[in-house]
Amino acid sequence: MNMNDTEQDNDSAESEYEALLSFMYLSPVGLVRTNPSGKIDMLNPMATQLLMPLVKSIGLENLFETLASVSPELRNLVASFKELCGSICVNHRIHVTSAADGGVVLACTIVKVNDDVLITVLTDISSQVATERRLRQTDSWLDAIYTIVNDFAVLGLTKQGEINSWSPSAERLTGFTESESSGETLRHFCNISASDVHVLDEHLAFAREEGWHSRDYYCRHKSGYSFFAQAMIAVLREEDDEFSGYTVVFRDITERKVSSENLADLLTKDHLTGAINRAHFFNLAEKEFARANRYRQSISILMLDADHFKLVNDNWGHPIGDEVLKSIVKVAEGILRPADTIARFGGEEFVVMLPNTNSLESSIIAERLRRGIEASSVNVKGLEIKITVSIGYTSMNESRSTLKQLLSSADSALYLAKAKGRNCIVDIDSAP
Ligand code: GH3
Ligand code: MG
Ligand code: MG
Repeated sequence: MNMNDTEQDNDSAESEYEALLSFMYLSPVGLVRTNPSGKIDMLNPMATQLLMPLVKSIGLENLFETLASVSPELRNLVASFKELCGSICVNHRIHVTSAADGGVVLACTIVKVNDDVLITVLTDISSQVATERRLRQTDSWLDAIYTIVNDFAVLGLTKQGEINSWSPSAERLTGFTESESSGETLRHFCNISASDVHVLDEHLAFAREEGWHSRDYYCRHKSGYSFFAQAMIAVLREEDDEFSGYTVVFRDITERKVSSENLADLLTKDHLTGAINRAHFFNLAEKEFARANRYRQSISILMLDADHFKLVNDNWGHPIGDEVLKSIVKVAEGILRPADTIARFGGEEFVVMLPNTNSLESSIIAERLRRGIEASSVNVKGLEIKITVSIGYTSMNESRSTLKQLLSSADSALYLAKAKGRNCIVDIDSAP
């Protein structure tokens, strides 16, 4: 080796040393070089910054002393490490301040380089620890919803709407196990008929468009009973915002639904007969007339009154009169179509609204009602109590298009039917 080679070697060693120093200086983690008892002989600016909150009057001379108040175990860790070199600890957590005081947490890795030198690496992991804490909290909340809170069920769907995750709560709410459910759609336990299968796709599409969608489904528990559930469908996205499926939270709302349905019944139905009440009839009729005008369809109105009903009460008593009224509605409901409405207008007087029905059709329905009621009877203690009705009816035409006009015409026709001898039907237009 000549003189020149030695100089070159010195030069490259020096530049390597400088590179190492600038690495230490610029490093985003704290680096501290100490002897085995912790005496610091070199530390970088990040280490100074991280340790500063712990430095008291004694200054920053001994690493283990500086950390003694928050991590007294470090000295023992080092003392009990008997290897010649290696990692004494890796990412050992040091809580510098409590969560209430900002939650500064350092990860500490100590490497024994040789008998005289330890290198300690310090990293600020405060935000990572805070995130972990939040996640643990969210986990425990979710866990509570998944497993503890009754009436809730959480499940996941693929992009195609197939069940791909199932929680104990879902099993409890539906009775189906995970293996029975995965790969199925919500129709597995939501009562959606085969002809309405597109409805579910529609709801998922709403969720995709809006980010979430809420719906009530009539559901079937595995053991057979039905319940009403509100489903909250939320869209699941990956980090890059790519749509990846749905999370659905189900909630059993049977009780609420039943009581609100009871309330709706109270508001819209006649409590004795179950027919639509007078006030609600006007609501329904308003919509029906608007629709008839829009689609240029006809509507017919029938006014129906029990004949000599006073005699029923007088002969058999009021409670039996009530049974007769209920029976009239029952028989009529059996004859009318789903779109038709029967409303109790007063005592023993009923109005029937027949949408999309012309005069001829309404005469057929009126006669069917008259005959049906005439043929029926109420059985009381072996006695058959019979009743008949008189019906006045009318349909929309050029000069008669409002509800008020039709009700008035049907009422006049009813008056004529009573005059004609009762138990008959009269069309206002064919009346003499
Ligand atoms: P018409 O053939 O002329 O209609 O004779 P009607 O006896 O049916 O008519 P009227 O108007 O004289 O009597 C109606 C009776 O209906 C009188 C009333 O006490 C009875 N009524 C009204 N509402 C109820 C009810 O909710 N229950 C019972 N049981 N009777 C009722
Ligand atoms: Mg009457
Ligand atoms: Mg009457």
